[in-house]
Amino acid sequence: MTLPAEPSSRIRVLPIHVANQIAAGEVVERPASIVKELMENSVDAGAIRIDVTVTAGGRKLVSVADDGCGMNRDDALMAIERQATSKIRSTEDIEHIATMGFRGEALASIAAVARFLLRTRPTASDVGSELEVIGGTLQDVRDCGCPVGTTIEVRDLFFNLPARRKFLRTYQTEQAQIRNTFIVQALAHHNLALSLRADGHELHRLPPSANFIDRLRDLYGAEMLAHLRPVEGRLGEVQVGGFVSLPSWTRADRAEQYIFINHRPATAPILYHALREAYPTLEGDRKPIVFLFIDLPPEQVDVNVHPTKREVRFRRPAEVRDAVISAVAKALGRSAPAPAPTPSELPEAPSADRFSPPSAAQTPAPGTIPAATVPRLDPLRHLPFPPARPDPLAPSVPLPQLPPDPGAAQPADAAAIAPPPPATDVIHAATGAPWVWCRLVGRLGDRYALLEADSGYVVLDPPAAHARILYEHLLQQDRATPIASQRLLLPQTVELTAGDALRVRNQLGIFKKMGFGIDALDADAFMVDALPAVLGEVSCRPLLIDIARALEEAGPRRGRERWREEAIARAAALGAISGRSRLSDAELEGLIRDLTACEMPYTCPRGRPTMIFTSYRELARRFGQA
Ligand code: ADP
Ligand code: MG
Repeated sequence: MTLPAEPSSRIRVLPIHVANQIAAGEVVERPASIVKELMENSVDAGAIRIDVTVTAGGRKLVSVADDGCGMNRDDALMAIERQATSKIRSTEDIEHIATMGFRGEALASIAAVARFLLRTRPTASDVGSELEVIGGTLQDVRDCGCPVGTTIEVRDLFFNLPARRKFLRTYQTEQAQIRNTFIVQALAHHNLALSLRADGHELHRLPPSANFIDRLRDLYGAEMLAHLRPVEGRLGEVQVGGFVSLPSWTRADRAEQYIFINHRPATAPILYHALREAYPTLEGDRKPIVFLFIDLPPEQVDVNVHPTKREVRFRRPAEVRDAVISAVAKALGRSAPAPAPTPSELPEAPSADRFSPPSAAQTPAPGTIPAATVPRLDPLRHLPFPPARPDPLAPSVPLPQLPPDPGAAQPADAAAIAPPPPATDVIHAATGAPWVWCRLVGRLGDRYALLEADSGYVVLDPPAAHARILYEHLLQQDRATPIASQRLLLPQTVELTAGDALRVRNQLGIFKKMGFGIDALDADAFMVDALPAVLGEVSCRPLLIDIARALEEAGPRRGRERWREEAIARAAALGAISGRSRLSDAELEGLIRDLTACEMPYTCPRGRPTMIFTSYRELARRFGQA
């Protein structure tokens, strides 16, 4: 096809270097984008070590050196052309893309907006090539001596685009972005040796590690691991792993929520939603710290939504959401909110079961002092409305098996600092408890208790600990038996606004299944003569409104599950001892014993800490001895 000759045409083909500069705007936002693109290329090239060097927040220099497969001269020349990629050969490849980047424009874009030097040597060759590109124009190609692999140096970013250069932020901001980019790659590829130098200082030198937890320890130190729980779960084709922070360890923003989909850093709004569901309500809308790895067949993910932001779409979002909710909730010792069944799962058992904690029928761990030797604090004593009372001689709270502990709560060398367990008064913990043994030392003020443990000391908040014990106890009981209903002494009549009444009326069947005795009197009034036993005698009106709203928002199954937990948490808070209670030593010891047997001993059902642990290592550090 030929276009009519039109001398005054306003349409012009852009010179290639201008096109590259425009495209560069998409790929190269700032120095950190270069770090990201180059590191990903090195990973794709099969590198096992990658060294990143920057100066002046990456404005002066970003250099990435790898020991990957390298390129021969022709490949190197190709690589700096737009749309040059060795990673896609057909449209099917796009579906199965396993490499990090596949747009074939990163190198060309970077070379268009900086002084660019590429040095590379493939394994098969004993001489390397060096290419120099300045502002998108190839200056020189020559042989050079260099090790196998590729080194790319990018100098004077945006030297030819003063307007863009002006938009770069302060040194600190750019430097922080670079560091964050580096950390994301370090988390995504724990098996690689990675280093980061900035302005002559080595910020990170990470040895290759056999597993992810070693990488976490190298990046953040061992102390931090005590705040994390391992995540492990599978739903259909979706595998979820990683670590999430305890509800007591949060921050105001999402800066430390690292999510990897098929080992690519990525985000999706639905994942944040899932995290909110999986956690108890966090005060002030704070965000947990998460390192989540979600793996699913590549064709289930659409990764090409945004060139740099990495926001992905899922073909089956409900399945991914439910997998994340269940796995994270399980890690936190919460019962997973029941996922809505997807059509493909209907013939099987309800998917929630695949994630539920192990059954209650488990024997106490060896080394635990039998419950009978120390008087126990009866977890039900303070409940105003005891549900079906268990046999007082049976252990009140069954010992659940915890998911494998990261092993970090007790650093390997802690034994060197920790004294041997004293001969008397020792409380040995069940597997997975925060300590191996501990001993009640005494009281602090009129509320707290002080414990000595094998690897540090613990300040315990007995009311919060008691709420946790009750909560798990009630949850277990509630799970085992159908929801019990308790008649009210006096039936209550509840009048609601038209909107709330409609909501309640629409959910009447579910209310009944939950243990409510409820009937509609007229359009806006209801008679309530029984409540779920776990609640005790409470005022019905706010309850009905809350539940009806929750059901409407979350859908019947999920809403019910959420609400059930909420009700139990509320009951536990009501039933727990108050800050003013004076417990005897024996009662306190019973409480500690019960707490260490909890699935999730670190926080109360509302997410507040039950204890503050300080390791001997931390003490040594603070005393300047470490
Ligand atoms: P893409 O990564 O999307 O393919 P790039 O512009 O980032 O596009 O890279 C272009 C090509 O250059 C890659 O497909 C790859 O073949 C080659 N390449 C880039 N970086 C390296 C490297 N560090 N080692 C070996 N080959 C590389
Ligand atoms: Mg690339």
